[in-house]
Amino acid sequence: MTEQTLTAASNKLLCKVLSIKNLTPSVFQVLLEPKAPVSFKAGQYLQIYLSDSDKRPFSIASAPTDTLLELHIGGNVTDNYASQALAHLRDNSEVLVQVGLGEAYLRQGERPVLLLAGGTGFSYVASIAKTLMTAQDPRKVLLYWGLRQESGLYYQEELAAWQAALPQLQIVPVVQEPTASWQGRSGLVHEVVLADLADLSAYDIYIAGPFPMVGAVRDAFLAQGAVRQYMYADAFAWL
Ligand SMILES: Cc1cc2nc3c(=O)[nH]c(=O)nc-3n(C[C@H](O)[C@H](O)[C@H](O)COP(=O)(O)OP(=O)(O)OC[C@H]3O[C@@H](n4cnc5c(N)ncnc54)[C@H](O)[C@@H]3O)c2cc1C
Repeated sequence: MTEQTLTAASNKLLCKVLSIKNLTPSVFQVLLEPKAPVSFKAGQYLQIYLSDSDKRPFSIASAPTDTLLELHIGGNVTDNYASQALAHLRDNSEVLVQVGLGEAYLRQGERPVLLLAGGTGFSYVASIAKTLMTAQDPRKVLLYWGLRQESGLYYQEELAAWQAALPQLQIVPVVQEPTASWQGRSGLVHEVVLADLADLSAYDIYIAGPFPMVGAVRDAFLAQGAVRQYMYADAFAWL
């Protein structure tokens, strides 16, 4: 099958591995250059084929208008999910991926947007936030990002730029196990949201993070008024 046929059939294509670099000691930014045109929606994911029978999903951090595909891989996972994918990316100058997967992509509309990320779930909300910024979307946007330690924060310059470009964007980092010097919010990220927003019924809610977090969020948010139809998370399909 030619590359063009692969792409036309299934958005499956080869990508050149351009770079792999640390964002934190345990999270890596991977830049892939597609060898044929790709299309996806903000908030979708791709799968990297480690073999014919082993494919791993990773959120796409790029906006659909970007030329390169950016991934954030790593985090506190104790299994080999991320490390095996990283080894594959390091060992191969080209990798096979399938792009444009998932139903938790950004919807148009006028309802305020709540973006909730746990750890590397930030990749997912980054794509959505960049897209809203590029479109100068007028919706109110709240971005809560939960991390175990403040040393896990990355993308600080980019976040400041998004904030400057989209004044109605509010960014709230939440550290689960803060040091004494941490000045910001602390605890589990979804519990901070529940403390800040008494009624979640008005929000379009986009969620990514570890499965136990997404499960806890779904139940707790529904109990605080969130509307199931307006809650988006691809992890729901795995729970
Ligand atoms: C569709 C899809 C896309 C994926 N995309 C990626 C990707 O782009 N990159 C990647 O590395 N992996 C990805 N994964 C795999 C997996 O989801 C991640 O490995 C996982 O989200 C990594 O979390 P972490 O270790 O960074 O978060 P952690 O450091 O474990 O947690 C971060 C924060 O989440 C909250 N949290 C964690 N556990 C709980 C809990 N039990 N209850 C309540 N809150 C909790 C806390 O606020 C915590 O501080 C993906 C999986 C799927 C199915």
